[in-house]
Amino acid sequence: MPGFELFGDKEKKEVMDVLDTGVLFRYGFEQARKGIWKAKSFEKSLCRFTGAGFAHLCSSGTAALSIALAACGIGAGDEVIIPPFTFVATFEAVLNAGAIPVFGEIDETLCLNPDRLDAVVTEKTKAVIPVHMCGAMARIDQIKNFCTANGLILIEDACQAIGGFFKGKHLGRFGHMGCLSFDAVKTITCGEGGGIITDDDELYRRAFQYSDHGHDHLGGSDRGADNHPIMGANYRISELNAAVGLAQLGRLSEIIKIQKKNKKIIKDAISDLKDIEFRKIPDPDGDSASFLSFFLPDGARAGKVIKALGKNGIDACFYWYENNWHYFKRWDHLQSMKSAAPLCAGIAAAKPDYKNISLPESDSVMEKTISMLIKLSWTDSEIEKRIKGIKNAVNN
Ligand SMILES: *Cc1c(COP(=O)(O)O)cnc(C)c1O
Repeated sequence: MPGFELFGDKEKKEVMDVLDTGVLFRYGFEQARKGIWKAKSFEKSLCRFTGAGFAHLCSSGTAALSIALAACGIGAGDEVIIPPFTFVATFEAVLNAGAIPVFGEIDETLCLNPDRLDAVVTEKTKAVIPVHMCGAMARIDQIKNFCTANGLILIEDACQAIGGFFKGKHLGRFGHMGCLSFDAVKTITCGEGGGIITDDDELYRRAFQYSDHGHDHLGGSDRGADNHPIMGANYRISELNAAVGLAQLGRLSEIIKIQKKNKKIIKDAISDLKDIEFRKIPDPDGDSASFLSFFLPDGARAGKVIKALGKNGIDACFYWYENNWHYFKRWDHLQSMKSAAPLCAGIAAAKPDYKNISLPESDSVMEKTISMLIKLSWTDSEIEKRIKGIKNAVNN
């Protein structure tokens, strides 16, 4: 999912527009900015691309999660079901909201298993945050049905899934809010940036208010005349970051096309390997194809194959099961609740025993999973070499 691979004149031009005016702030300065509104333009384009009614940009994907939780009214004492395979930001945002992350099992989609939500839902559960990992979707229709049936808020962490769809609808649009990231290694990048999308105008209003100190943005050109209907924070994006993202969004369709092409060549070429099976993707047409993930028969084989891939010089392969950042087994800071400052008292009292969490189904999926990042810059001969290297690693 490497937006940084396609980067150049378009990004420079958008940034120069901003530097020419000297207005780096996304609000106000009407005279000086000479009609240049990069954050607003990016939001409009994001609505067009995703089909969402509203989009609001912010400073990161982590900020987007915090904003979504706040806008949806999730806070102290609430339980939020999340998957154990995600980036740490998902549980960080829940804890920062004063709420309690509760882990549900994942399945062979590498995402939350809707059939196992029942096992972890309690009377305190307020929301579910499925994460569309590695560019493709959870069984989001069934997760949505579960949330609707149980009166739960659904927030989608689509930080890794821009350009991904389920049955024609962009990921992040199934729940109350969807969160996107444009950090340096995502499919498109702003350097740092994130965004929320929603079809609900009230949630959108709360989101932009919360991410800008509660400003209602109704004071016209005088920011000081805005009212503050709620307390908030500063999760604003700068015009410079938004300018880069605007150019990147213009490349997104091309990026997805190249990813799909490269992924298909490799997938087709290795599909006859009898020891591998591919990740289950509920709607293959909607895959953004930023990763190719496959299962070996068991953890021992996967461990061997990931080593052999390294030896064969096949880079960009990940064994998440032993990864510090993406799987709960290595989240010792969460297990020991190592926080810079004391957490909200309610969390300490009500949190699950994170040290002794057992997720056998997730373990059995993750220990056999290898993922390979799909790059845009690969030449035909590099792809050929890669295919040979994978075959060799799996067959030996
Ligand atoms: C990247 C990522 C985030 C956080 O995004 P940042 O912009 O880096 O804060 C959240 N969730 C997932 C699944 C991610 O991959």
